Amino acid sequence: MEYARLLHKCRNAYIFGLGNKTYEHYNAVAKYIDKRLEELGATRVYEMGMGDDDANIEDDFITWKDGFWPAVCEFFGIESTGEDISMRQYKLEEFTDEVPDRVFTGEMARLHSLKTQRPPYDAKNPFLAKVVVNRELHKTGSDRSCMHIEFDIEGSKMRYEAGDHVAVYPINNSELVEKIGKLTKKDLDTIFTLVNIDEESSKKHPFPCPCTYRTALSHYVDITMNPRTHVLKELSEYASDPAEKEKLKLMASTTPEGKALYQQWVIDDNRNIVHILEDMPSCKPDLDHLCELLPRLQPRYYSISSSPKLYPNTVHITAVLVEYSTPTKRLNRGVATTWLKEKKPIAEGECPTVPIFIRKSQFRLPQKPQTPIIMVGPGTGLAPFRGFIQERSVSKKDGQTLGDTILFFGCRKKCEDYIYEEELTQYEKDNVIKLYCAFSRDQGQKVYVHHLMDQDADEIHRIIIEENGHLYICGDARHMANDVRNVMIKILQKSMDKQQATAYLKKMETQKRLSADVWS
Ligand code: FAD
Ligand code: NAP
Repeated sequence: MEYARLLHKCRNAYIFGLGNKTYEHYNAVAKYIDKRLEELGATRVYEMGMGDDDANIEDDFITWKDGFWPAVCEFFGIESTGEDISMRQYKLEEFTDEVPDRVFTGEMARLHSLKTQRPPYDAKNPFLAKVVVNRELHKTGSDRSCMHIEFDIEGSKMRYEAGDHVAVYPINNSELVEKIGKLTKKDLDTIFTLVNIDEESSKKHPFPCPCTYRTALSHYVDITMNPRTHVLKELSEYASDPAEKEKLKLMASTTPEGKALYQQWVIDDNRNIVHILEDMPSCKPDLDHLCELLPRLQPRYYSISSSPKLYPNTVHITAVLVEYSTPTKRLNRGVATTWLKEKKPIAEGECPTVPIFIRKSQFRLPQKPQTPIIMVGPGTGLAPFRGFIQERSVSKKDGQTLGDTILFFGCRKKCEDYIYEEELTQYEKDNVIKLYCAFSRDQGQKVYVHHLMDQDADEIHRIIIEENGHLYICGDARHMANDVRNVMIKILQKSMDKQQATAYLKKMETQKRLSADVWS
């Protein structure tokens, strides 16, 4: 309601949307607001811009901004100086003589909230869950790792349903943190605070302050993503070597040459802030400024891979370890998965802990177990379906009749990364599921889940069209989810034309008979 009221009040409009092209409804909110404001009689001061996080969202914004400011100046009759002044948003205070009363050590909001835990638990107040199980799912011979982790949520009053997500707050790698201390020549034990110079602002600090630089770099700022161009612009001010200064400035510019260099040197070569400071040795930024510039470290979400019907006191996740080498011969490690990998229970009662919270999702089983379902989940896309299958097996044990429960799973090699093989084959034997597996690399030609769906077109068509079944897709958003949608359109064309098939899939979505839980 509040939102609708605001739209009605808006007279002059300039919109830039934040989206990602791998998702179906690309920048749908921005498009809707742009259209709605026009309908309500607002004046579009400058054409709507759309950012694509799958490519370079900041580049999209800067390019849009280049045209936006002159248009605003012209519209409001303002004379532009053309100067681009950068100002610090926060004022630094360091506590070198005395230790302040309140020093944050990684809490999200309330001081000591990780020591004196109090429900309700949420994004601002995560629950410190014990890791009671952390085992490898890949078999010997696999050069990757996939973890099955169980978090103990007993006593937390947190509830979950199969299909929900659990968020994990990771800690940055301590070696990287120490490197930043060395590269910026700062004692990481120094306690500091950053205070917004705008006293009216509701955001007093960029993250919980005061804290030590070590805490800020470990818990609050992202030190592993590729820095955005505005960070490079600020860094250029600290480079004493003219060549380094110029290179940083160029990469931060909107010239074609600058954009190409940024793409190659930062994005393609996959440099994070540590790599940049290592490769620009004359650049010695103030660490507090760096803490202000770097984005907040975000929690990582995982599709819960258990059902509360079977596991009311634990939440399971299925997470693949992120680790890859970069063109500059460095090994990049995923923040959360590398950190989780070490979180192994030593003995009963001696369990490491992880701050988590549960996020409700729309990814839900149909209410009646009799309703047939088709689940498509290659790789870690299997995660929520493990919960769904557990739920259906409980219904079956309770004497309820199950509708068709079909799983299309895919992995590289049966003998390497066929995760939860024993569980799945047992469910198949117990007639809980019908299982189709695509082992993509076990033969010369790739075999993917959508190829198997194509082969099983008659059954899928019957379940969806005649029996009003539900379809679920989980895992890779970039390619797999689209390929599965396309094969569905092909399958539906058994009884309708292409246009009708596309519309039918859309209708399934609005009816919540088609749900996707995908990420890229
Ligand atoms: P990060 O430090 O975040 O690094 C990941 C980044 O590294 C990538 O975004 C990419 O930019 C880069 N990268 C990764 N591999 C390469 C490569 N080979 N070459 C170059 N760059 C690369 N993950 C699961 O494993 N299981 C799940 O069930 C699951 N469910 C999810 C559900 C949702 C709703 C969402 C949004 C995500 C889900 N994810 C899941 C992904 C998960 O949230 C994390 O993104 C993932 O675990 C990586 O986190 P990280 O901190 O270890 O890696
Ligand atoms: P995976 O093991 O890489 O892939 C599972 C199976 O899917 C493999 O057999 C793979 O085949 C196959 N596949 C590849 N392209 C496909 C397509 N277009 N359609 C259908 N199947 C296809 O899966 P994962 O490691 O569990 O990861 C799943 C996805 O999640 C990844 O693709 C990745 O995009 C995403 N992910 C992202 C992060 C992150 O850091 N943000 C972390 C984890 C996972 P081949 O490999 O033989 O082609």
